[in-house]
Amino acid sequence: MKTDLNYITLYPNIIPVRGYSRSILMDLNMGKFLFIPNYFCDFLIENKTKNLQKVDFLNFGNSENDVDEINRLVDLLIQEDYLTEVDSKLLSGLKVEVPFITDDTLISDCIIEISNLSSWNISVFLAKINTLGVKFLEIRFLDFTSFEKHYKKIQFDLTDHSIEFLHFIVPGDDNLNEIISNEMMTFHRLNQLTIYNSKGKFEIEGVPFILSFSTQNSIDNSNCGCINPSQFNCNIASYYANKKSNNCLSQKLSIDQYGDIKNCPSKKESFGKLETVNLERTVQLNEFRKEWHITKESILVCSDCELRWMCSDCRVFIQDESNPLSKPSKCGYNPYINKWINEEGYLSESECGVSIVDNRLTIDQVKLNEINSELWG
Ligand code: SF4
Ligand code: SF4
Repeated sequence: MKTDLNYITLYPNIIPVRGYSRSILMDLNMGKFLFIPNYFCDFLIENKTKNLQKVDFLNFGNSENDVDEINRLVDLLIQEDYLTEVDSKLLSGLKVEVPFITDDTLISDCIIEISNLSSWNISVFLAKINTLGVKFLEIRFLDFTSFEKHYKKIQFDLTDHSIEFLHFIVPGDDNLNEIISNEMMTFHRLNQLTIYNSKGKFEIEGVPFILSFSTQNSIDNSNCGCINPSQFNCNIASYYANKKSNNCLSQKLSIDQYGDIKNCPSKKESFGKLETVNLERTVQLNEFRKEWHITKESILVCSDCELRWMCSDCRVFIQDESNPLSKPSKCGYNPYINKWINEEGYLSESECGVSIVDNRLTIDQVKLNEINSELWG
């Protein structure tokens, strides 16, 4: 029997995402997610604006088993704070959408490389990106002498600047520990210092930034683009940014050691030298931004993946270089069977009957169903 006290609804910060073979509920406030079956996700999406009670959830089950499963699922989702039970007064307040957040700065992320071969003026460049509104700045020192030569001046140049997160990547050196301990303890602008090619790890008490160590011997741009669940983002800002534009290339700028302007460090394409072209005009060129509009919704395979709005992207290392909408080549997830490459039972998309012909995806449904029945019952 319906009473006035038992409406069941999703919290506004919970986003249902339907995949080809299963779905998820993303909790944008708590940064977590939970897998749900597709039929349940469809029900939530189709009935989003309706006032539902538990009986409405149970009524859409086709069999006794379905009803039991839905009952268990609804209880679990209430317990885990994805769904909530409220009275009619609270219900309308919970139907409000999470406010849409956009960042309209010209460039938000910037990655620069500095080496002995860098003859461009770093101070002038840092002043320029201040006017572009850069928030995240990563400086990759390709040799230790460049770090020794420039870090103090960079610290000075960034005293009053738009950046909110500063990351140095520095090669290991016998003098580094001493420099950090004696000269960088007041570098409060620096958020993280990562050391690569280090002889060993060390700790320094009271250091005002995160000190981390990389296992890499050198900075190699060909290592970029790995799709790793540990780097997935489940929060309001990244969800809306991902839906609006490409979550790796949009609003990104990179300057290589020679002063070449690029969209990302791994791209071959240069838009000219920093010292000879107008940076602000360059980052507004359609050609510079040609992949910024590519969201997961338009990428082959990814558009069928339930993880798409948490996942990072890569447009440089892709399965088919002739198709800018192909899947990142360094992704080991097959969303048609919900298996990662290191999991038992993994098969590639083509082994499951998923093929791409003339840039269009075709699925051998019979083959895929057989494989999924064998894997999941
Ligand atoms: S597009 Fe790919 S290579 Fe470029 S920064 Fe993003 S992940 Fe790295
Ligand atoms: S298929 Fe891979 S790259 Fe694409 S959204 Fe899913 S996990 Fe990310």
